[in-house]
Amino acid sequence: MTDIKSLTKDELTDLIKGMGEPGFRAGQIYDWMHKKQARSFEEMTNLSKSLREKLSEECEFVSLKIERVQESKIDGTRKYLFELGDGNLIESVFMKYRFGNSVCVSSQVGCRMGCRFCASTIDGVERNLAPSEILDQIYSIMRDTGEKVSRVVVMGSGEPLDNYDNVLTFVKLLTDENGLNLGQRNLTISTCGIVPNMKRLAEEKLQINLAISLHASNQAKRQELMPIANKYSIDELLDACRDYFDKTGRQLTFEYSLVGGVNDTDGDADELADLLKELNCVVNLIPVNPIKERDFVESTGERVQSFKKKLEKRRINATVRREMGRDIDGACGQLRRRHISEKHDGN
Ligand code: SAH
Repeated sequence: MTDIKSLTKDELTDLIKGMGEPGFRAGQIYDWMHKKQARSFEEMTNLSKSLREKLSEECEFVSLKIERVQESKIDGTRKYLFELGDGNLIESVFMKYRFGNSVCVSSQVGCRMGCRFCASTIDGVERNLAPSEILDQIYSIMRDTGEKVSRVVVMGSGEPLDNYDNVLTFVKLLTDENGLNLGQRNLTISTCGIVPNMKRLAEEKLQINLAISLHASNQAKRQELMPIANKYSIDELLDACRDYFDKTGRQLTFEYSLVGGVNDTDGDADELADLLKELNCVVNLIPVNPIKERDFVESTGERVQSFKKKLEKRRINATVRREMGRDIDGACGQLRRRHISEKHDGN
């Protein structure tokens, strides 16, 4: 069955014409799915009943089911656990900022990158998400909250550049003027550093932002935290970053999770400043969110501030990520793991 919500408008037009319907029907259907966030063909009331029935027979209509929502009492962050058509579970996060609302989406069920401090990767990857399944995380949250979404980050579970084609289709659908029409500059993709696909992305002539999970200031330390560093060296990674900036002109974001006693000394900050000094970038410092499966501890508040000051003295822009939703298993993959283990215990 065709996953209709994953089709571009041109592909949808071909499908509809192939059914013997006039081309403008495709525009109506696309509008229902991507502008009005319809949840089924039934809602598409300007289509004939027979066409709606035909569509239901021939197409799959992806609409995620909310399995669980947790709202932070601290900052109103809402963490969603969605059930996919095949029963798999994924997480997304809705965050309210002064400048607008953000949604953080997952790109895979699980992840195979193996970063040492991350809960999403512990059981490996189950499968890639379809474009429709990435999109509908946003649509479902918009319907549930009744709020607009002005920024999207692909920073949930999974490695977006390990699911390149589907993520790219998702980007096209989300930023399409016939759909939600999110500005490309309001969309960020976060990668652990799959170098060849970073280069491919740079060639796509898009204006989306790239965030790179760096987490270390040299090759040896990065290898200890992130297995992907064994495949692509930190030098190759930084070359790909420079290439992305040269081709797109977009400022880069480096994510750096501060792990107590591992990568958070002033010496580490100095080395990081050396590494990044030629790049137009900002460093986003994230005190590591401890997960129960690993014994990493977060850096002290004092250490975080000292690290930030050191970078700033070296003229590197640095921000400390506001910790949102700490009280609701905010770190990647934590809610899903807890939910699954609770269900197991209950059975
Ligand atoms: N695979 C992508 C996107 C998902 S992870 C990537 O690696 O960038 C989003 C960010 O959260 C990454 O920077 C990741 O390294 C970081 N992260 C994961 N678990 C974390 C934890 N427990 N504490 C702090 N940061 C974490």
